[in-house]
Amino acid sequence: MSNEYDAIIVGAGVNSLACAVHLAAKGWRVGVFEQADTPGGAVKTLELTAPGFHHDWAAMNLSLFAGSGFFKAYGKDLTGHGLEFVPASKCFASVFDDGKWFGVSTGAGETRARIASFSEADAKTWDRLCADFPGTAEYVFELLGNPMQMHIQGRLLAKALWRKGFAWTAGLARTLLSSPRAWLTETFESDQVRATLGAWGMHLDFAPDMAGGAVFPYLESMASHHFGMVIGKGGADTAIKAMLSKIEASGGEIHCGKRVARVLKSGGKATGIELEDGTQIKASRAVIANVAPGGLMKLLDGKSGDAAFDAKMTKFSHAPGTMMIHLALDGLPDWTAGEELKNFAYVHIAPSLDQMARTYQQAVAGLLPDEPVLVVGQPTAIDPSRAPDGKHVLWVQVRMVPAEIRGDAAGTITETDWAHVKEIYADRAIEMIERHAPGLKAKIIGRAVVSPLDLEADNPNLVGGDQVAGSHHLSQNFLFRPALGHATGKTPVEGLHITGASVWPGAGTGAGAGYMLARKLGGK
Ligand SMILES: Cc1cc2nc3c(=O)[nH]c(=O)nc-3n(C[C@H](O)[C@H](O)[C@H](O)COP(=O)(O)OP(=O)(O)OC[C@H]3O[C@@H](n4cnc5c(N)ncnc54)[C@H](O)[C@@H]3O)c2cc1C
Repeated sequence: MSNEYDAIIVGAGVNSLACAVHLAAKGWRVGVFEQADTPGGAVKTLELTAPGFHHDWAAMNLSLFAGSGFFKAYGKDLTGHGLEFVPASKCFASVFDDGKWFGVSTGAGETRARIASFSEADAKTWDRLCADFPGTAEYVFELLGNPMQMHIQGRLLAKALWRKGFAWTAGLARTLLSSPRAWLTETFESDQVRATLGAWGMHLDFAPDMAGGAVFPYLESMASHHFGMVIGKGGADTAIKAMLSKIEASGGEIHCGKRVARVLKSGGKATGIELEDGTQIKASRAVIANVAPGGLMKLLDGKSGDAAFDAKMTKFSHAPGTMMIHLALDGLPDWTAGEELKNFAYVHIAPSLDQMARTYQQAVAGLLPDEPVLVVGQPTAIDPSRAPDGKHVLWVQVRMVPAEIRGDAAGTITETDWAHVKEIYADRAIEMIERHAPGLKAKIIGRAVVSPLDLEADNPNLVGGDQVAGSHHLSQNFLFRPALGHATGKTPVEGLHITGASVWPGAGTGAGAGYMLARKLGGK
């Protein structure tokens, strides 16, 4: 380990590593310091249940990574360093209490036919959305893929007005500001179609009635239909391993098991870091902290020197938590709604917009939801290499749960300590899957349950198990992520930058914040 680098990066998440790849490629000497023993942050693959069963600890879907500006620039290189994706053409589906299901896949006509079985009018709407998607996506992807700076986003707005006209641009802005429910109910008439698409808002903290969430059901359904989904071959950590290898090949270093205790400053400028064991390491050009705003304040011993900034960082708000259930199975679930569901990457158990709204509200109120939203990921349906022959893993995301339990909306769980509650609550979630896939429980050969507090203990950025590193509601998104004036990662301390999912463009494996910052610092 050197005692001086050009740039020190705190944390080895996907944003840090994308940043390190670019800076190292530009000739910077980069040192990454990660507190956990395994790099990757929310992107890790571990044998959690039994040998030979590879579970994605947190993120499973790498579509944002594969579609990112970072991947466009470095994808070829990363492939040379071992990165492999596995495509999924059957992307996501929902099952309903009446035994029906709906799902979005890439096959021309397949999704349309499924929609038509619910509503012919909705099938025509789908055709229209698909036809308009390339023209709309160009602007939405440009918005999301660029720094949140007035001169850049202003140019994009001017381009949209010039090429598409006022009514089209205003219409897009209206969609971006709409709640999932507002957009879904004015666009589709089938409750099943609305619920299936609306479940994507719950991957973030966009319950159906939250303004600013419509873009997620829209983008995820259109992108899945047009491009499919991808997961990592052998596990999501294929992306992390390839980035590590590329960084090391460019002379960069990654040090795990090294918690950064503080940022060192001299004359209002960041000069390096101090590790928990007291070791001090210098950074001649930049200290880049991939931490949540609260974590940044800890690194600054509570004071940046700018009280207004400190207040904004301290008030940064987090979304409700997530619980993960990892199962090792003898076979995939036998979904009663349809055999075809076995082939989908995600099966949502989120039967209506009202159920999702209720779940979110319960979690916000500190209650264990009576019926949480479940994202049942079936990675081995797409990539059998993650489990021994004929065996499977199931990745179940339980959305959403409170970090601090004040009660149980179903009135049956009386304990409030997650260490105790997690297994009991996992039983509730597994019962919900069992109702749609009888026989699942008998197929379980191993199980690991990760509470929201376990997620935070592994990675302090996931405060209270908040998987999106901070609410994405409008008051904390776009120009306001993490706070007005800091959406490009700038802090009041010269040479200190904040990056990661708490910074624009927010959560996901797309590495947007890290890559944009690297381009700002190291040049394009
Ligand atoms: C359960 C779950 C499921 C998800 N599923 C998906 C999905 O399927 N697809 C998708 O696109 N996104 C998903 N996400 C979101 C996505 O994974 C994250 O938004 C993204 O990986 C965040 O990356 P990051 O680089 O911002 O930071 P993180 O992954 O948070 O990494 C930050 C790193 O910094 C380290 N660190 C923090 N403080 C210190 C310190 N003081 N010293 C040293 N190290 C420190 C942490 O230990 C951590 O390793 C999921 C997230 C979770 C939690």
